[in-house]
Amino acid sequence: MYRNLGDKIKKLTIELTEIPSIVSTREEINVVKKIYDKFTNMKYFKKHPEMVRYIDVIDDSLNRKSVLAMVKGQKGNNNKTVLLIGHTDTVGTSDYGNIKEYATRPLELPDRLKSISIPEDALKDLESGKYLFGRGVFDMKCGTATLMTIVEELSNNVENLEGNIVFAAVCDEEGNSGGMLSVVPELVKLREKENFEYQAAIDADYMAPRYEGDINRYVYVGTVGKLMPSFYVIGSEAHGGDPFKGLDPNHISSAIIEEIDFNTKYCDEVEGEVTVPPISLRQQDLKPEYSVQTAKTSYLYFNFDTHSSAPDEMMNRIIDGTTLAFQRVINSLNEEYKKYCVANGFPYEKLPWKPRVISYSELYDKVKLEQGDKVDKVIDDLNKALLSDESIDERMHALKMVQTVHSMWSDRNPVVIVYFSPPYYPHIHVKGETELEKNLLNVVNDVIESTASKYNIKMKKFYPYISDLSYTAAPNESNAIDSLKNNMPGFGTKYILPIEEMQALNLPVVNIGPFGKDAHKFTERLEEDYSFNIVPKLIYKTIENLLK
Ligand SMILES: [Zn+2]
Repeated sequence: MYRNLGDKIKKLTIELTEIPSIVSTREEINVVKKIYDKFTNMKYFKKHPEMVRYIDVIDDSLNRKSVLAMVKGQKGNNNKTVLLIGHTDTVGTSDYGNIKEYATRPLELPDRLKSISIPEDALKDLESGKYLFGRGVFDMKCGTATLMTIVEELSNNVENLEGNIVFAAVCDEEGNSGGMLSVVPELVKLREKENFEYQAAIDADYMAPRYEGDINRYVYVGTVGKLMPSFYVIGSEAHGGDPFKGLDPNHISSAIIEEIDFNTKYCDEVEGEVTVPPISLRQQDLKPEYSVQTAKTSYLYFNFDTHSSAPDEMMNRIIDGTTLAFQRVINSLNEEYKKYCVANGFPYEKLPWKPRVISYSELYDKVKLEQGDKVDKVIDDLNKALLSDESIDERMHALKMVQTVHSMWSDRNPVVIVYFSPPYYPHIHVKGETELEKNLLNVVNDVIESTASKYNIKMKKFYPYISDLSYTAAPNESNAIDSLKNNMPGFGTKYILPIEEMQALNLPVVNIGPFGKDAHKFTERLEEDYSFNIVPKLIYKTIENLLK
């Protein structure tokens, strides 16, 4: 049966890949329609048309949708339900250059790739004939095709199915997760309505080697999270000819980069698995014009992956690190100023600067104390004004809020305001503490052990790539969520996360993905044997055992 399944999945993978669905374009809808049509043509869904439907992305100018399909087992009275998720969009195709039009044609692409120069390891894989190339083939049309095929298989045998399956094919994963975020509240409603007892969420997103020469195949129980600590730096302007009179915010920004960028001190380690270190995604000053005056303000933000740090803990660590960096700038300025004074025969006096670093919520409290309700009115009005301009993204929205609140503060001295920019992806650590977690870990362990193959399949705890899996849960500690909400300007207006629903769903997750290489590169490719012959077995058995 599995062999047959593999052939079917391959055919569907190619079919889905051939429908371009680049994120944040109208085309996304085409593949979603295709998936919907596939379901409505399946025997089970012809009989039960109400079991498949579209879910609109909330407030989406492109009117994108996701597909939600369910199969209710007809054997016994089992309410156990397994959730399957797969995304339908891909990243763009401009990286294919002048063979771009072949990017989504896996059958024709190899010949085109042979006509251009590609990296050696990709060429080797191309010549082996064991890989399928194409945009989205690996991330993640194959995974979505696999889940669809398994759902069909189970639905063909619904008389013998004990328990239920819910499958969500979600759009916009490579963008703002609009698909998943609109599906999460539906899943919670569905649980109420149908009495579903969700056991776990299974994703089949891509799985790649973790280091050069890595031959392992990984199944990840749990997933990495992400936060974006951001900094609004207020210095003190000076004339370029008299720099020691001022405090250059660019100097402080670069000290923050020096302290945080690539510093493994800021990695999260859990159960021997360590996140990648933080990396800066933006650094700039905010001076609009050229002049010989130094900048007054600057801003920067970082990508932080998390395995354990909740927003409140992260905020404390960042404030400590930033204070260190700020102090270093002051020390170095004093040293240089001293040298400069000695060299010129001027009297040296210590510079007046103090390292001051506060969170956005502290800033808000200080301004509220001075200004009362006026600050809330200003924030409200600004929110409205910013929301009406679609060219302002979530990061810029947050910055403008911080700037405005700071401008209402009577204290004009140098300071760094630390806040969070959207997006936020909670990490999910499947500790094995709850019944559901224990069960999922046992099931996945058993499935890996009982599946004979020539591959070295390993279980790990954190899917290492940011994905929609994060949204099947959220921290339950109120400190963590309060810190996020109070330190992320625009949360709830510009940036909407269904936190309560995520908390209510509270599902352990597993990613059982196809194997391949170079997701998001023009050499993106899927290794066929493991992906089509082994992964379906692993997923099928995991579902079966979770429903037991
Ligand atoms: Zn993906």
